[in-house]
Amino acid sequence: MTIADLERKVRDGGRVDRHEALELYLRAPTSNLGRLADDIRARKHPGRLVTYIIDRNVNYTNICVARCNFCAFYRPVGSSEGYVLGFDEIFRKIDETIALGGGQLLLQGGHNPDLPLQWYEDLFRAVKARYPTFRLHALSPPEVIHISRLSQLSVTEVVDRLIEAGLDSIPGGGAEILVDRVRKLLNCYGKATADEWLGVMRSGHRAGLRTTATMMYGTVETVEERLEHLFRLRELQDETGGFTAFITWSYQPEHTELGGGEATGIEYLRTLAIARIVLDNFDNLQASWVTQGGKVGQLSLAYGANDMGSVMIEENVVRAAGASYCMDEIEIVRNIEKAGFTPQRRNMHYEILGDPVFRTRAVPRMLELAVARAEGDTSRAPEVDRYAARSAGEKRLRGQQP
Ligand code: SF4
Repeated sequence: MTIADLERKVRDGGRVDRHEALELYLRAPTSNLGRLADDIRARKHPGRLVTYIIDRNVNYTNICVARCNFCAFYRPVGSSEGYVLGFDEIFRKIDETIALGGGQLLLQGGHNPDLPLQWYEDLFRAVKARYPTFRLHALSPPEVIHISRLSQLSVTEVVDRLIEAGLDSIPGGGAEILVDRVRKLLNCYGKATADEWLGVMRSGHRAGLRTTATMMYGTVETVEERLEHLFRLRELQDETGGFTAFITWSYQPEHTELGGGEATGIEYLRTLAIARIVLDNFDNLQASWVTQGGKVGQLSLAYGANDMGSVMIEENVVRAAGASYCMDEIEIVRNIEKAGFTPQRRNMHYEILGDPVFRTRAVPRMLELAVARAEGDTSRAPEVDRYAARSAGEKRLRGQQP
């Protein structure tokens, strides 16, 4: 098939296979890819609505034994820069989120060997007791696998127990590229193989949870492997229908062991557009302005995205690797409207909640991103001592080992 034939096939609603997607990705002009993706967005989301969510991205610990080589966020066990947030610190962050009109935490963290399943259950229960309608979009698949290994329970049991404690949905982090050759090179094969990542999502979907899916591209993968990632997601979505959205971002190299350069804006827009074309069974695609900046984030709305993601209140992971773009609700809405769309607030299920909060009442402006913990704060979360220490570093800290 020629590129023109392929473009016609997509315009007519046809489903592309791996070979066709590769041809389009490699050979179709960027503007044509954008137009195809934009047509699909318009078909799925008539009325020129673009959504966003007010939630807070909280990283409960930066201590991690996984040591992915693309990550600038983690600290090894025993590091003086390692932290675990106390429940009171998390409550404070929830209070601030509610003040801005938000109703959810995106809660993710490192693979900390000294936080057992019970810590997560206690945290979730404490949050739900204090804030019954507040939602927990928490623990990406590799974290669930880490907890399952620590507790020696199956992934299904862990997911069920977390739901029982208050888990509302699972974020799609830790997917990187769902091809094991790539995962081995990124030193993230041990935390979750491609099948294991998909397996957690399958368990979540079967247990009735909705989840998101992500892709971090631009490290060591080939274009074929990038596309393979999309096809693996499409296949699971055909099976379960449990993904609400797909988010892709480019690898941020600063301060990482892997190093290297960052993909360009055009590569981002082409990747986003081909994702919209391949993922014909995903309703929602988010713009990643956190890594691409507001201007490319705005352009994403012409390349298949129908959602601006989250108002950013706090960010730790991407900032550690060199990117720190900040947009509060006023800025997000301005970007959406200037691109010719109508902004609407949503929840994690993409149900429309209404017009921008700042148009109905005064909200504090967020012109600077908050961090997980103020610099130099080395306080210890009081809850951690309730659970048995497992790592040598933690035992030493507690004076349990010479
Ligand atoms: S990406 Fe996540 S799992 Fe990997 S080292 Fe960083 S914090 Fe740990």
